[in-house]
Amino acid sequence: MIPFNRPPLLGTEVEYVLEAINNRKISGDGPFTQRCHAWFKSHLKCEQAFLAPSCTHALEMMAILLNIEAGDEVIMPSFTFPSTANAFVLRGAKIIFVDIRPDTMNVDENRIEAAITNKTKAIMVVHYAGVACEMDTIMSIANRHNIPVIEDAAQGMMSHYKGRPLGTIGCLGAFSFHETKNYSCGEGGLLIINDSKYSERAEIIREKGTNRSKFFRGMIDKYGWVDIGSSYLCSDINAAYLYAQLERAEEINHDRLASWHYYYHGLVELEQRGHITLPELPDSCTHNGHIFFIKTNNLSDRTKLIKYLEDLDVKAVFHYVPLHASDAGKIHGSFHGKDIYTTQESEKLLRLPMFYGLSSHDASSVINSIKAFYQ
Ligand SMILES: *Cc1c(COP(=O)(O)O)cnc(C)c1O
Repeated sequence: MIPFNRPPLLGTEVEYVLEAINNRKISGDGPFTQRCHAWFKSHLKCEQAFLAPSCTHALEMMAILLNIEAGDEVIMPSFTFPSTANAFVLRGAKIIFVDIRPDTMNVDENRIEAAITNKTKAIMVVHYAGVACEMDTIMSIANRHNIPVIEDAAQGMMSHYKGRPLGTIGCLGAFSFHETKNYSCGEGGLLIINDSKYSERAEIIREKGTNRSKFFRGMIDKYGWVDIGSSYLCSDINAAYLYAQLERAEEINHDRLASWHYYYHGLVELEQRGHITLPELPDSCTHNGHIFFIKTNNLSDRTKLIKYLEDLDVKAVFHYVPLHASDAGKIHGSFHGKDIYTTQESEKLLRLPMFYGLSSHDASSVINSIKAFYQ
């Protein structure tokens, strides 16, 4: 069986988790959390980094930091994971979905401006498959309208746009360390702050709305409840597990990119014969091999191909059901403009097995199975 995903396991995770346990400091902000934060600050060159229980939680912190209230609007693509929208819906926002580009499956930067109203409080970009959105255009639209840009970079660790790490271009960025992501600790996430005006409040929101972090640093003599908030810290046991992988991030990235290129070269012939479409990468970005997808010519081909691969013990999966067509999306959002690509392209997309340590033997089997299907 060739699984769709297998979380990385380098071996050092066990050692570090044991060390965290023996430190007798397993709540949040322990020694491993600090090591992770230092790694993020040095690699992402961000103002602040806060490990969180998940990317979903990091997105929720964003919504609180931006003071999202009932009736506010947030613009985002419909082709994304529900958390991208949920975090804002929880604060009462209405989601304004705009169409995607068929090449990257990212938000179409040219559809954003027409969706802006006087209620628009944020533009949320999602860097699908760790491939950057067209950020220069998006930032200039946002600056012209004085609207903050925030980044769902859940899939984007180690990816860049014109040399800048994803998640660091807007004012806030969120990452995921769920077991399906490139670096993982089971469940985990990260909020990064690129505009220092959010730093102090972020520290309070994550500490249950208290100024406890200031107290721990000796800056005040007692702490109390000063704002709304929740518990957005990550246990140091999870941080220890994650740190083992961050330390070897280059190696993991290299390995995934090798599998990505292996698939690409193996399948290019099927693209030339018109059976499938392969992913396109804009020159402006270097990616991280998070996802390798192909697009079939239609939904029926995809359904048959999934079944065909399943019978050969190859697990390939699709996502996302567009949010604007989902039960909750119909209540909490609306699609601005025409859905030209979101539904059509999402119905053709198929993700192939992709994980750290995928052997070229297994990748070959996947390629050959797809070729056999089209024979
Ligand atoms: C994985 C993912 C999330 C959710 O991440 P969790 O850490 O599981 O909360 C959100 N947005 C996108 C685009 C994702 O891929």
